[in-house]
Amino acid sequence: MNILVINCGSSSLKYQLIDMDKNEVKAKGIVERIGINGSQIKYERTGMDKQVFSKPINNHKEALKEMLGLLTDQELGAIKSLKEIDAVGHRVVHGGEKFSGSVIIDDEVIKALNDNIDLAPLHNPPNIMGIMACKELMPDIPMVGVFDTAFHQTMPPEAFIYGIPYEFYEKYKIRRYGFHGTSHKYVTLRAAELLGKSVDEVNLITCHLGNGSSITAVKNGKSVDTSMGFTPLEGLIMGTRSGSIDPSIIAYLMDKESLATSEVMDILNKKSGVLGISGLSSDFRDIENAALVDSNKRAQVALKAFTYGVKKYIGSYIAALGTVDAIIFTAGVGENSNIVREMVLEGLEPLGIILNKEANKIKGKEKEITTPESKVKVFIIPTNEELMIARETELLVGRD
Ligand code: ADP
Repeated sequence: MNILVINCGSSSLKYQLIDMDKNEVKAKGIVERIGINGSQIKYERTGMDKQVFSKPINNHKEALKEMLGLLTDQELGAIKSLKEIDAVGHRVVHGGEKFSGSVIIDDEVIKALNDNIDLAPLHNPPNIMGIMACKELMPDIPMVGVFDTAFHQTMPPEAFIYGIPYEFYEKYKIRRYGFHGTSHKYVTLRAAELLGKSVDEVNLITCHLGNGSSITAVKNGKSVDTSMGFTPLEGLIMGTRSGSIDPSIIAYLMDKESLATSEVMDILNKKSGVLGISGLSSDFRDIENAALVDSNKRAQVALKAFTYGVKKYIGSYIAALGTVDAIIFTAGVGENSNIVREMVLEGLEPLGIILNKEANKIKGKEKEITTPESKVKVFIIPTNEELMIARETELLVGRD
């Protein structure tokens, strides 16, 4: 079965065509700068050189058309015709409370997604555009929606409710939703395999640390708490996002700097985090370099504030879970930065976490990085959100 996985952002469309029987990616790439000058299509058929084409692409439908053209191109194509695509899996950021799992996309689901736009005004509209474009260009191919929020719908009320009047939850559905669910679920399933346990027996703390970062407490294979909230702004200090701050700061800043709501939100989303603290970069490689090689004081504070935040979440989730089988590090920073992992785990020996510093030197590979005496194991597990979306799609569409 061939599954096309699509992840639409406001000006981009990422895609992967996955052969589920052979467990291999047939082709992948990204269409960038959709509707902006300098549009580009990057296309890579497995085993062939990467191709980059520049041409104007005005909208997601055109992007999809170009991409499908390349996938079925006589010379470069990974398949002969669109008939070889059995299903399309779409990443959808926000499923609200309505979607606690992946769904086959029909008109009712599209209506529900439109009803959810308020909850994710930046993310859901491009996701819907991608779905509508596929519906037009490939009307007979089944589509599945896989939500970033779905894995976290098992959180109990005490973890998802905010301490504000309950009527705002009832009226506007203001609550913790959590994000990166597809990634947290993928590493949870893989961790259970590595631990040799069935997934409903594992207690984990999964740390997805990338440009955006979130940590999840997993009890018996289910998300019971997570650091991101109503939006992906809550929780850890991130590349450019502030993470949790005292809400009063917002009113104070607006007053002092005469800022509009959109301006203060822009600061918190795009100019804060390790970028804001260091004044240098949102990229953790730059931050580490500046902190450790150049002894840049602000970069040192940024790196320490980030890792201290991760450490505190791990501590609080150990308290929430009682027993923990393993801590998982995943995503760009989690998979690659031995420095971040070491700073996070330093001093947690009394909690039964003993890092094997030699093993921790590895980058981007699946590996256990704790000593045999460590009561809680720590694994690096590279995430694969596309494969998870393809698996969910295959499950719902069913095999031939
Ligand atoms: P996104 O949230 O955009 O999916 P990723 O998961 O790809 O992000 O993570 C991107 C981050 O990973 C960047 O900040 C990058 O600096 C960081 N990263 C990648 N490789 C390394 C490395 N070797 N050491 C430290 N950080 C790294």
